[in-house]
Amino acid sequence: MSTIQIKDKQFTISIPEEEILQSVQRVADAINRDLEGKNPLFLSVLNGAFMYTADLMKRIQIPCEISFIKLSSYSGTSSTGEVKQLVGLNQDIKGRTVVIVEDIVDTGLTMQRLLEILAEKEPAEVHISTLLVKPEKLQVPLTVDYAAMEIPNDFIVGYGLDYDGFGRNYKDIYTVVP
Ligand code: 5GP
Repeated sequence: MSTIQIKDKQFTISIPEEEILQSVQRVADAINRDLEGKNPLFLSVLNGAFMYTADLMKRIQIPCEISFIKLSSYSGTSSTGEVKQLVGLNQDIKGRTVVIVEDIVDTGLTMQRLLEILAEKEPAEVHISTLLVKPEKLQVPLTVDYAAMEIPNDFIVGYGLDYDGFGRNYKDIYTVVP
């Protein structure tokens, strides 16, 4: 399926599953190497990161924990800049090595807010792992240690990412047809 229709928009395949998984493997290799002996706590940001989290975690071979959190600022096809609160963090992260697992860093505002909230809980260190970055859209300085792929400034769906709730189930990534 090279083209899909979701509601009023058409999307065409831009990153096939095979390419995604190669990038995920590269990130996993780096994390396995860098964070060995640190027992990291992976915090997966729902909903968008669920598929990336599953594929990434299957490739992590060091002792670690995984937890799922929610912090959303997005509706439709453009960032609103409005950020909600963090829900679902039950662990004490004080002194821990934390790895945020996110679907996409767009303006970076969501990630910046998440880093602020986590910093209050005094982790030892926080790393960012994101499936995708849109470097042209980034509005805040962020150190993204583990970015699987960089993409242009277009709206995408699939592999966990949605358009108004639909499209998360596709195994490939699709870009909106203008
Ligand atoms: P930011 O705060 O960095 O601008 O936005 C981050 C959030 O916006 C992501 O976690 C994701 O939910 C959403 N987002 C940003 N760009 C896209 C996109 O191209 N497609 C989809 N489906 N969501 C996006």
